[in-house]
Amino acid sequence: MPGDKQRVALLSVHSCPLGRIGGKDTGGMSIYVREIADELGKQGFLVDIFTRRHGPEHGGVMELDHNVRLIHLQAGPDRPIDKMQVYEHLREFASGMEESRRHNGLHYHLVYSHYWLSGCAGTMLRQRWGVPHVMMFHTVGAAKNASGAGEPEPELRIENERRLARECERIIAATEKEKGELVHRYGALPERIKVVPCGVNLDRFRPMDRRSVRQRLGFGDEKVILYVGRIELVKGIERLLRATSYLDNDLGLRLVIIGGDEHSLGEIERLRGLARDLHIEETVDFRGLVEHEELPHFYNAADVCAVVSYYESFGLVALESLACGTPVVASDVGIMRDIIRRDEMGCVLSVDHDPPALAHMLAKYISRPASDPLLVREGVSHFGWANIARQVNEVFSEVGVSDSQGGT
Ligand code: UDP
Repeated sequence: MPGDKQRVALLSVHSCPLGRIGGKDTGGMSIYVREIADELGKQGFLVDIFTRRHGPEHGGVMELDHNVRLIHLQAGPDRPIDKMQVYEHLREFASGMEESRRHNGLHYHLVYSHYWLSGCAGTMLRQRWGVPHVMMFHTVGAAKNASGAGEPEPELRIENERRLARECERIIAATEKEKGELVHRYGALPERIKVVPCGVNLDRFRPMDRRSVRQRLGFGDEKVILYVGRIELVKGIERLLRATSYLDNDLGLRLVIIGGDEHSLGEIERLRGLARDLHIEETVDFRGLVEHEELPHFYNAADVCAVVSYYESFGLVALESLACGTPVVASDVGIMRDIIRRDEMGCVLSVDHDPPALAHMLAKYISRPASDPLLVREGVSHFGWANIARQVNEVFSEVGVSDSQGGT
């Protein structure tokens, strides 16, 4: 009915947006879900985020933000489980969503799914409710496999992604590169794919006084190279350690590695061992998981941030660093080539770069005078979430679901 608010069912089945970000399975996608839901809510949609209940304390409906609710549904055991195990409970999850809808007498106008597991449940609801299905993949399994790094993604995932890529009314790809992968690897129709990048919270990630943030973190005058992210082979942390071993440590050097939870302990131990073998154990500072709200201090304290993954569907960390005014040395993955456009913003190396090439670039950014943070930030100032949500809103309009309020 004209004037009625449009109701969106946002699926994030395996990853709770309130989970601790930076652990094994909780990274950029959870940030995306939180931020886009918040902005869509502000722009007049009623957004219900559905996620799997993963602890006995979770349950029922939570008001997250204006117009945004989080609903935990029982599907399988109420504890964290492996993603492939989540797959076995998707039918139960979709039934739980239908039950919740019926119980509350609601009508959803659109299903908006995140990651292939949510996409599978989303397809079931799209059929049941007769509404459009918009999907984001966040990672394209076949492209990740082609990168050759990390555990190979199972065929079951690839088959499902191929099916979903052809079935959804619209796919939102985070980059042109991802769009190409969906078309060429899965046969998705290009006209159904819209490229809308991920965003960054420009209020949270902003330049700060470097001296005081360094003091707060207990850093001195040493040069600081920063890594932020999940602790996974695909992130290239090993080559970052190797590159660090080539750097001259006369001026004092600190490589800060942020990320990883109790499921990452084995990999962190392996990396610590490598640091010992490379004789840089004094230089490497493993901080474990750091609260997202605390990260702006680290980006501001760093001389350079390294995003040297073998595969990345987007790469939020690079945006966060640039928004804080800190240059990024990156491999040519995800959005890097589009956002690192000027020398003061950093540089992009080929995806298969070797440690000496990386060391050469890191040396450049730690030895020269710091870039002007405001100039660096200016290059990503159009990535604010309000702007991104408006573009997502346009995709919804294309499938007949538009924000009738024109923003509130
Ligand atoms: N992150 C965090 N705390 C940590 C490690 C990472 O909040 O200890 C956040 C980081 O700020 C970023 C996200 O996790 O927003 C990682 O997103 P990215 O797109 O870089 O990688 P993904 O996890 O999607 O592979």
